[in-house]
Parts: sequence; structure tokens; C-alpha cells
Amino acid sequence: MPFEKSAGAVVIRENEEPKYLLLHYKGGHWDFVKGNIEEGESEKETVLRELEEETGIDEAKFIEGFRETINYVYRRNKQVFYKEVVFYLLTTRQKKVRISFEHQGYDWLPYEDAMKRLTFKNARQVLEKAKNFYEHHKG
Ligand code: ATP
Repeated sequence: MPFEKSAGAVVIRENEEPKYLLLHYKGGHWDFVKGNIEEGESEKETVLRELEEETGIDEAKFIEGFRETINYVYRRNKQVFYKEVVFYLLTTRQKKVRISFEHQGYDWLPYEDAMKRLTFKNARQVLEKAKNFYEHHKG
């Protein structure tokens, strides 16, 4: 079975109430920023490149120590793919988002709303861990 590996991030805009960035994928699902790791790239390099390409956000900071992996299997053109996605945690103060052709929308949402909006359970689990980690490690 073909194997794909992506890297992505839970992106938090630091407000009085933190807001989480979700993207509306063309397939219909809501998820975090992410994308395929290119040859020679580290996971964190992928995350920053995808963030810039997918949202235009070019100033973000990693909260060190957070790294969560999820796996899933999906079908594309009758082929089954096994995919692994590694998520990091980023904070930013940039609000403006310019989405690319890869997505149909985006939203900055408070935690509870982001939980409701995320399509997949494994992504919700990442969000919950990211929120807890953020609350213990924010500056
Ligand atoms: P990338 O941003 O990594 O380039 P993509 O848009 O090519 O991603 P995915 O977001 O991985 O691809 O979506 C591919 C398929 O997998 C879609 O059918 C989507 O519904 C499904 N999918 C996406 N995320 C999950 C998940 N967390 N659990 C199960 N299925 C998922």
C-alpha cells in the first residue's frame, strides 16, 4: 500500500481568548494546516513552508516539545493510501489569511468551536492535546 507522510500544525492566534486556525479542504473536511514532506526537508521546515503557502502567514513560533502523530487510510482513484501526519504547535500574531487554490475556506475559532468544526476524531484528539500543552507552556 502506498505510504504518504505529511507534517502540519495546530496554529494558535494569541488573543485574550486563543483562536485556532482551521482550513476547509476541497474534499469537504475541516482540518489543520498540513502538507507532504518534500525530499530533504525536516518536518518543521515542511510545517513553516506549508503555513506560508496555504495561509500567507510568515511569522510564527513553535512551542517546543509538542509533536503528535496520527495515521489513517484513505482511497484515491481506487488505490488505498496509508498516511501519517505529524503535528507541531505554532503561535502567531498574524490574523490575515490568504488561502491558496488547495482550500475553499478558513476560520479562526475558539477551542470549543474548533472542536465542533473538525471533521475527524483523530484531529480533535490532537486539538485537545495541543490546548493542554499550550496552557502549560505558553510564555
Ligand atoms: P495534504 O494537506 O497532506 O496535502 P490532502 O488534501 O492531499 O492533504 P488529506 O487531507 O489527507 O489530503 O485528505 C485525503 C483524504 O483523507 C480525504 O478523503 C480526507 O477526507 C481523508 N482524511 C483526511 N484527514 C483524515 C483523518 N484525520 N482521518 C481519516 N481520514 C482523513
